[in-house]
Amino acid sequence: MKFCQHCAEPVVRHVPPGDDRPRFCCRHCDIVFYENPKNIVGTLPVFGEKVLLCRRAIEPRYGLWTLPAGFLENGETTLQGAIRETREEAGAIIQSMDCSLYTLFNLPDINQVYFFFLARLASADFQPGVESLEAALFCEDDIPWDELAFSVVRVSLEHYFADRRAMQFPVRMFDLRHSAERRLQATLISSSTDTSSPWSRP
Ligand code: ZN
Repeated sequence: MKFCQHCAEPVVRHVPPGDDRPRFCCRHCDIVFYENPKNIVGTLPVFGEKVLLCRRAIEPRYGLWTLPAGFLENGETTLQGAIRETREEAGAIIQSMDCSLYTLFNLPDINQVYFFFLARLASADFQPGVESLEAALFCEDDIPWDELAFSVVRVSLEHYFADRRAMQFPVRMFDLRHSAERRLQATLISSSTDTSSPWSRP
């Protein structure tokens, strides 16, 4: 950010009084511009034994497979945004009553938070949107594990197929950070069936 969104004067970066980190500030308007993490919302759409994936027609990760997801818009709930992204990227219509929160990823290194909802598809009626080269249903054995676009997609799919065998689908939260070798590592922080949680003690 270089210029004030209100008066177009150059902004300066400094720690405002009473704050603990540098912010972009306009001295002319006496305004502080706060930058906060972006929310990304999506679904893990399931039809029978299969999962719906989209192949990206945009950068980054052009040509790789992903779950339908995108930035939450102002005025939307996380679930509304996830359903919209699924419609836009995969052309699939999902009802909110067929969805439940499934995975949450904190990515503090790149200032993003991901929310994925498990979503039951009522039909195999879908078609790729403009941001997708194709959309397709995959059995577990056919998932293109080496051609997945993002770690959040891989981790969500791994847990889904394991959960399906156990027939339990807890809500899990992960922190995703770069290791010293620059590899992304997902650490499970909490699970809704985690008996060590203080909430599940009598
Ligand atoms: Zn200004």
